[in-house]
Order: sequence, then C-alpha cells, then structure tokens
Amino acid sequence: MFVCGPTVYDVSHIGHGKSYVAYDIIARYLRKRGYSVFFVLNITDIDDKIINRAKETHEDPLVLSERYAQSFYNDMKDLHVNSINLYAKASDYIPEIIDEIRGLVGKGIGYKIAGGVYYDISKFPEYGKLSRQNLEQLTVHRVDPDPEKRNPGDFVLWKAQKPGEIAWDSPWGKGRPGWHIEDTAITLTHFGPTYDLHGGGTELIFPHHEAEIAQAEGLTGKKPLAKYWAHTGLLSIKGQEMHKSLGNFVPIQDAIQRVGVEALRVLYASTHYRSPLDYTEETLVQAASLARRFRRAYDQLQQSAGVKSESNAANDALKRQVDEAHTEFFAAMDDDFNTPRALSAYIRIVGIAEERGKSLPTESASMLLEAMKELSSILGLLETDSMPRREFLDLVTLLNSLRNELRAKREYALSDRIRDQMQKAGVRVEDEAK
Ligand SMILES: [Zn+2]
Repeated sequence: MFVCGPTVYDVSHIGHGKSYVAYDIIARYLRKRGYSVFFVLNITDIDDKIINRAKETHEDPLVLSERYAQSFYNDMKDLHVNSINLYAKASDYIPEIIDEIRGLVGKGIGYKIAGGVYYDISKFPEYGKLSRQNLEQLTVHRVDPDPEKRNPGDFVLWKAQKPGEIAWDSPWGKGRPGWHIEDTAITLTHFGPTYDLHGGGTELIFPHHEAEIAQAEGLTGKKPLAKYWAHTGLLSIKGQEMHKSLGNFVPIQDAIQRVGVEALRVLYASTHYRSPLDYTEETLVQAASLARRFRRAYDQLQQSAGVKSESNAANDALKRQVDEAHTEFFAAMDDDFNTPRALSAYIRIVGIAEERGKSLPTESASMLLEAMKELSSILGLLETDSMPRREFLDLVTLLNSLRNELRAKREYALSDRIRDQMQKAGVRVEDEAK
C-alpha cells in the first residue's frame, strides 16, 4: 500500500489529518482481516514550494524540509496514525529516480530539452485512463510556455538547475527530480512494477497519478501499476478552502490541543473517506461529545461491579445484539471502507453499554468490553487515557485556585491532600513560603 504524503514546507493541518487517518483506518482494517500490509508513505522534501520557502527563511531547503518532516512524523504519532511501515523521502531515492528516467529515455519515451527531461505522453496511448480523459483532450487546448516540448501535456521528469538552486548530478546535467517521478521510483524499489493499493487526495488524480501510471507502466510494460486506487475527499472550513491567507488554517497540533485526538478521529471517521468534510464548530462539538460518550461507556464497563449472572436467556439476547452490531461493522468496512456506517454500528454497542450501565454482570460487561476494544483498534479510538491537554490544564488551574483559597483560610490538611493527589497525577506543585 502506497499513499502520497505531504510536501514538507510548513506544519501539517487538519486536512492532512483527514486523509492520513482515513488510510490509517484502511490499513488497520486490512490487517484485522488478515492481510499482510506493508504501508509506505512518501515525503516530498524537495520541490518548488520548499525552495521558495527556504529562500524566505535563508535556509538550506533540505534543512527546512527535514524540520517539517520531523514535525509531520510527530503529528502522525499524536494522531495515532501508527500503521505506516516506512516514510520514504524523495531525496533518499535520487539514484533510483535517475535510473528510472534513464530507462524512459532509453525507450524513447523521455526526451531532453533545455528545461530538463520530459515525458512524451503521445508514447503512452493509455494516458488519461485513470481520470477517464482521452489523449486528444489532453494534448490540445493547452496554453503552454515551453515551445520545445513535443506535446503541450508532456510533464517534467528531471528539472534542469536554475541559478543558485539546489541540484544533483545526472546524465542530463545538474538538476532535481520532477514531482511525479519520486513516487514510482519509491514503489518500484519496494514493491516492484505492480502493487495493491495506491492512495492520495482526490486533487492528485490528474495529472499526478495519471503521470505515475504512465511512468511505471511505460517503463516496465507491466500493468497495472496499482490494482486499486483510493482517493480522499478534501476538508473545507465552514465551506471555504483552508488557507493561511484566509486566516482559517488549523494545524493538527492546535486541533489536538483543543478537542483531543479521540474527537478528531471520530470526526474523520464520521465522513466517508471519498467524501469532502466541512469542518465547523458544530461538527467538532458533536464529535467531541461522541468521543466523551465512548470513553464514559468504556470506563463504566471496566468498572462493572460484577453483579451476579443473569439468566442464560438474557445473556444470549445481549450477545445476539452485540454480534449483530459487530457483523454490521465489518459489512460496512467491506463496502469500500464505509466508516460512517461502521461508526453507527460501534455506537450501537456503546448504546447497549450505556443502557445497561452498571447493572451488567461481569461476563456481559467483558463481552461488551471486548467488542468495543476490537472495533476501537480499527478506528484508532480509546488508545489514550489522557484527556485533551486544554481540559487537563483547565482542571489544574481550578485545583490550584481552590488550594490557594484553602491555604488563605489556613485549611492546610485539605490543601495538602489536594497537592498530594495532584502530584500523583504527575503535576508538580510548589508552595511559596508564607
Ligand atoms: Zn504522490
């Protein structure tokens, strides 16, 4: 499984979060179903956007992109995206990229002009098959700045160095890889000419994924490059595209601080991966309240006091309800990873736990608990004990002010008890001498 990763020139936002959590759930689910999944995600660490940003910050582009790559890994860790086996950085695959381009040039598909090496799309008649456009549509009516190109739609494989720009040596002179070539160099290296699943955002279908197919299938002659393609819908903010200049940019870390990772993952899972998601205050509040419900139900089940066993009939009826919801969850996921439907099935189990509450006998409670754990491990829920940092800080502030009041009233025994409990929870409390 290969998924197009980010171009690391800035911090990642909740739109990235939507996409990578979706593929994380897909990988977790496939593994749950017994597939052996090797999940590679590429990191574009050399690109126009990175070079431009590095000019602004007076940095080496690779130093800048390494910093944001690290911040991206950290975001994925905090989002509990833990199914990725390998992060593959484009700059680590320059020899493989050059080999691939050499092969394409050798076959007469790639050709060199002043601007670099280009792909001649007229040599690959199936160009356009993924986005269902025909070659004719793609070769005419294009305004194009480079008259040296054989066809207006030809895309760049190797960009010739511009003065002062970062560059690597190649048979075609100094330069750097085009954007599309890194993915196929990485997948040819790790998977060979054909693999199972390729993912990325909907906006990448054309030309990016179309170009990948042309590169790999044009070079190897083996079809298909990927047996399945999965494309994620975009995230918008109150109906608008997210953009720094619009002031509506939400970094992943801000969202986690605000509502916690559980609420974010619930929000993402409540939309089908192919569908767009509009991020509003209302949808966020709903997701946060669902996440709290899940946590409460789960905690309650764990604390289930062990009432004496119910009748067999009552126990069987409960088991049937849980089994039905469990089957529905898997049926939904088998239907093109329909997470909103799967989430509804999960909520049915949570509902049973809430309804029966503490009156459940131990064996029924552990049956529900097992079901919740199993399905949570696919959705990536209930994997942390901590509450959102902001709520935690609010509580610490509240306890602190209560302690100050108690100390002002010289009620030291109680204020010391609160301090000891806070310290047990990992909060260091220091009182200044009076
Ligand atoms: Zn890509």
